[in-house]
Amino acid sequence: MKTVRPFYKLSVLSRYENKIIHGISQRGGGVSEGCYQSLNLGLHVGDETARVIENRKRFCGELGIKLSRTVCCEQVHGTNVRIVDEKDMGRGTLTLEDIIENTDGLITNKKNIALMLFFADCTPVFIYDPRNDAIGLSHAGWRGTLGNIAAKTLRAMHDAYGTKPSDCIAAIGPCIGGCCYEIGDEVAEKFNDIFTSMHLPSTAFSRILFRDEGKYHLSLYEANSALLVQEGISSENISSEHCCTSCNVDEFYSYRAEKGKTGRHAAVICLK
Ligand SMILES: [Zn+2]
Repeated sequence: MKTVRPFYKLSVLSRYENKIIHGISQRGGGVSEGCYQSLNLGLHVGDETARVIENRKRFCGELGIKLSRTVCCEQVHGTNVRIVDEKDMGRGTLTLEDIIENTDGLITNKKNIALMLFFADCTPVFIYDPRNDAIGLSHAGWRGTLGNIAAKTLRAMHDAYGTKPSDCIAAIGPCIGGCCYEIGDEVAEKFNDIFTSMHLPSTAFSRILFRDEGKYHLSLYEANSALLVQEGISSENISSEHCCTSCNVDEFYSYRAEKGKTGRHAAVICLK
């Protein structure tokens, strides 16, 4: 049997390995088949439940986390953020029936509770506040990025734990890159309005939204990074790695590259 592939890590968070566990799953070493092969962690995509649970156990096992201490949310491309504590442990891990509904961002300051969200091209945004020992994880596709779910997660951490953006570390996980992410004119216009009002240098602006062969392209990595900086996180404290899920479909699930018939990888963060 193939073992679970080493999961993907982000260097700004790896510096705090004595305080937090984090990782993003990759496709190898699971039991799912067909378009889900092989470590599909999404329960909502039509794969067999028993296989997904086995895959989740394998991935959490590799990270040294118990699935029963993990929390999942519904992820509806919205901007609701929820505080998570002991009573939420296990929600959404074995069934969708007890999942935290209508939520795209989770925060906690409790130790040994893992936040786990699922992705196929959308952007995982991790936030760690080392001063107050608090974490946040959010799901930002184009709608969530437009709604600034990353900043809303940060503000929820401020309200709940006194988090200051200037203390925070942020990491943006693998997501579809500007190289592969064509968007329609209407969506491009919405992003153009937001980033024009931020008065970014033109070089920074052109990394977020640009035209290639007559089509608009959007970088969710660059967009979320700019929004986090605007919110007060220092650019040195934001991850610099940028991995495109669509270019790396052997390693990650890509909704765009696989035309919607695919599984989900997971992003996890947990305070030790
Ligand atoms: Zn790409």
